[in-house]
Amino acid sequence: MNIILFGPPGAGKGTQSKYLVKKLNAFQISTGDLLREEIKKNSNIGKAIIQDMNEGKFISDEIVNKLIKNLVSDPNRKNRLIFDGYPRSLSQAKNLNSLLKATSQKIDLILFLNVDKDTIVKRIEKRKVIENRSDDDTNTILKRYDKYMKTTQPVLNFYSENPNFKEIQGNLEIDEITRKIDTFINV
Ligand code: AMP
Repeated sequence: MNIILFGPPGAGKGTQSKYLVKKLNAFQISTGDLLREEIKKNSNIGKAIIQDMNEGKFISDEIVNKLIKNLVSDPNRKNRLIFDGYPRSLSQAKNLNSLLKATSQKIDLILFLNVDKDTIVKRIEKRKVIENRSDDDTNTILKRYDKYMKTTQPVLNFYSENPNFKEIQGNLEIDEITRKIDTFINV
């Protein structure tokens, strides 16, 4: 199964992806992690994106698409992909469709973890203490949430017409979200 986890930062996409990775023996594709990795390596991409990342701005489609290309096309990962934080723009969604098509794959499930702003702020504040993420100060969180909602609306519209699109209330407890996800996975 190939699954997209969709939802604003702090909705629990990372937690649920890790659950799905274990359950389906799958591979997480987190563009946030891939981008942070580039910064850690101090690569050319890392140098180019560090400021935007710290300001909570979206990274260009070109860079993000490049980072996921080989992972999506990897035959060892075929039909075992869990997308966390990608796609975030219509152009990324279309890019993903063509990459999948080229490797005879499709999206089997799109999970939208829908969560309100207050819950997000509380969760990211908590995570900030645990993970010490530099981009997670409150102002950035709010900017990221607003930007996410605004920019990803076309992506949401694009996928919401898909019969495999499922919306889950992301402010439920983690275990409750997991139980709901389980009902959509028939393995
Ligand atoms: P995340 O870990 O998914 O919350 O992502 C952290 C940051 O990485 C975001 O605020 C963006 O700056 C950047 N980012 C992650 N995924 C994408 C994407 N698909 N497109 C553009 N920027 C992204």
